[in-house]
Amino acid sequence: MAYDYDLFVIGGGSGGVRAARVAAADGVRVALAEEDRMGGTCVIRGCVPKKLMVFASEFGEAISDARAYGWDLDEGRFDWPTFRGKLHAELDRLEGVYRRLLDGSGVTTYNARATVKDAHHVALSTGEVVSAGHILIATGGVPSVPDKQGAELGITSNDIFNLEELPASILIVGGGYIACEFAGILNGLGVKVTQYYRGAQILRGFDDEARGMIADQMRERGVDLHCGTTILAMEKRGGGVWVKSSNGHEEVFGQVLFATGRAPNTRGLGLAEAGVTLGRNGEVVVDDYSQSNLSSIYAVGDVTDRVQLTPVAIREGMAFVETVFRNNPTKVDHHLIPSAVFTQPEFGTVGLTEEAARAQEPIEVYAASFRPMQHAFAGRSDRVLMKLIVSKATRKVLGCHIVADHAGEMIQLAGIAIKMGATKEDFDRTVAVHPTMAEELVTIKTPVRTA
Ligand code: NDP
Repeated sequence: MAYDYDLFVIGGGSGGVRAARVAAADGVRVALAEEDRMGGTCVIRGCVPKKLMVFASEFGEAISDARAYGWDLDEGRFDWPTFRGKLHAELDRLEGVYRRLLDGSGVTTYNARATVKDAHHVALSTGEVVSAGHILIATGGVPSVPDKQGAELGITSNDIFNLEELPASILIVGGGYIACEFAGILNGLGVKVTQYYRGAQILRGFDDEARGMIADQMRERGVDLHCGTTILAMEKRGGGVWVKSSNGHEEVFGQVLFATGRAPNTRGLGLAEAGVTLGRNGEVVVDDYSQSNLSSIYAVGDVTDRVQLTPVAIREGMAFVETVFRNNPTKVDHHLIPSAVFTQPEFGTVGLTEEAARAQEPIEVYAASFRPMQHAFAGRSDRVLMKLIVSKATRKVLGCHIVADHAGEMIQLAGIAIKMGATKEDFDRTVAVHPTMAEELVTIKTPVRTA
C-alpha cells in the first residue's frame, strides 16, 4: 500500500526535527507537524532562552568583581524590556534557522496540531488526514503544576520569558533543575527570590556534597531557600499572590513560579485510542529502539519520560532513523550521560554520586573544595568543588562532580574520559593545566574518604 509519506513526525522540537532532517537527507519522504513554534522546548522556552537569561543575570556580579579588580564602573540597572526584546528577536532568528533546515532537507512541514488516528494515519487540525509508513511521536513535555487550590495563580517556566515586567518578588516552588536555575537567574536580575522545596535538600538525585554546597551558595547570594516547605493556600491579593506556607509564614509575592516537574505531552494525541500503550505519567512506552507496542509508531525525547535532555532526544531521533530507515538496529546508550545544571554556582556532573557508588561497591573519594583565585581576589567567599568517585576494584572513575564557574564546559570533557573508562591513574598521568580550577582533577593524590 502506498502511503502519503514514509515518515510522519509529530513535534518540531530537538528530537523530531533531527529525525526528520536526517531521514529526509536519505531520500525518505518525510512530513512534520508542529502546532506551536518550530524548535520546541529547548529553543523556544527552555535551554536557549534560559541560558541567555543566565548570562544576563551574571553581569551584576561581574560588575562588582570588575570594581574589585580596579575598574571604575557604575552599578547600572538591568532593563527587562530591552533584554526581552532582544531575547525574542534571537528566538525568532533561531526558529527561522530550524524552519530553513527542514525546508532545505525536503521535509514537508504542517503548522498544525496532529493527532494519531491509527497505526498509519494522522489527522491534522486543518481537516486533512494523511497516511504514513511510520509515525514518530516527538511531542516533548509540558510543565506539571500541583493540583492544589489557587495553583492557577502561579506561572510556569513557559511564561517566564514573556513576562511584561519582572516582579519585585517571586516564590519559586520546587527543588529540581528549573527551580534552582531560575532562583539564581531571577536573584541575579534583582528580583527578591524565595524558594520552597518539599524535601530535605534541593537537587534530589545528585551528589549530596555538591547539593549542599550549591544550596549554601544560593543562600549566600541572596536566595531565601526553605527546604521541607510547601504551600498550604494561595489567593490573589493586592496585585500579587498571597501564600500561606507549611512553615507558618504568610506573604504576598509578585509572582509564584511552579517548577514542579514536567509531564509527557500526550494528552489528546489519540494515542491510547489508537492502541498505543501509555505509562503511568502518560509517557509513550517504548523499547530500546524507541518503538511502541504498535510496530509503525515510535517515540523519542521527553514524551517517553526516559532522560529529559535535549542531546538525548537528538540521539534517540538519530538512532530511530538508523533502526527504521538504514536497516541498522541502533539502541541509544543512556549510560554515563554528562549534564549541567545552570545554577549559580554552576554544576556539572557525570556518572555515579558518592552515595550510589558506595551502595554499589567499595570506593575512594577524591575531592578538593577551595576558593578559586579569581573570586578570592575579588573578595568573594564562593568555593568550588572538584570531586571524583573511584572504584577500589577497577580504579575506574565512576563519577565526577564539579561545582564551579563553567562546570558545564568542564564536565563535557571529563565525560569523554569517563565514558572511555579512564582510571584514577589515567587522570593522574595527565599533566595539569595551570593555573586552572580543573587541574585539581589530575593532582589530588590522597582520597578524602574510602567506603
Ligand atoms: P525536576 O524533576 O528536576 O524537579 C521537579 C521538582 O519539583 C522536584 O524538586 C520535585 O520534588 C518537585 N515537585 C514535584 N512535584 C511536586 C509537588 N506536587 N509539590 C511540590 N514540589 C513538587 O523537574 P524540572 O521541572 O525542574 O525539570 C524537568 C526536567 O527538565 C529535568 O528533570 C531535566 O531533565 C530537564 N531540564 C534540564 C536542564 C539542564 O539540563 N540544565 C534544565 C532544565 C530542565 P522531589 O525532588 O521531592 O520529587
